[in-house]
Amino acid sequence: MVEEKQEEAHNSLRDNYKKQEKEGSFSPRTSMKKVLISACLLGENVKYDGGNNLISKNKFIQILKEQNLLVSVCPEVDGGLSIPRIPVEIVGERAINRDGIDKTREFKAGAHVALDKAVTKNIKMAIMKSKSPSCGKDYIYDGNFTKTLIKKDGITTQILKKYGIKIFTESEIDKAYAFWKQL
Ligand code: SF4
Repeated sequence: MVEEKQEEAHNSLRDNYKKQEKEGSFSPRTSMKKVLISACLLGENVKYDGGNNLISKNKFIQILKEQNLLVSVCPEVDGGLSIPRIPVEIVGERAINRDGIDKTREFKAGAHVALDKAVTKNIKMAIMKSKSPSCGKDYIYDGNFTKTLIKKDGITTQILKKYGIKIFTESEIDKAYAFWKQL
């Protein structure tokens, strides 16, 4: 059951990527309008508990979907972690799961998958799931699994920011839209 769920989510991610790869001819201008997005915000069941964080009925997201401008990523799954998986929080510079196992290697691998997609597709902005140890922007949990937030970015967001990609969360869609319009 767990393996089936995992397989299903991996297939869905892979199909999504293939579809995006097949999109017509490459145009730098169109490409700049593409937006990297956390897969769970699009309803993909890639969260640690097998669920998602679907942003329902958001007009901007619908526009992007219709124009085929969304590039979804799930850094944790892309980095090799399973669905479901034991939740992870950031402790210092390490990604440690609730059982104390170090998952930093997988987190960094997934962050680089996201960065590769952004760079190869000339993507300038991303909409990332808030508070996630991978995708979170500005605030993430403090590493004690007590729902306490600290001021810090998730590992993927740190790397994307370093390469100049503008990050928004699902709570900043209006700001994201304003930024996107002027690209
Ligand atoms: Fe969503 Fe990012 Fe967590 Fe994947 S790593 S489930 S995309 S928040």
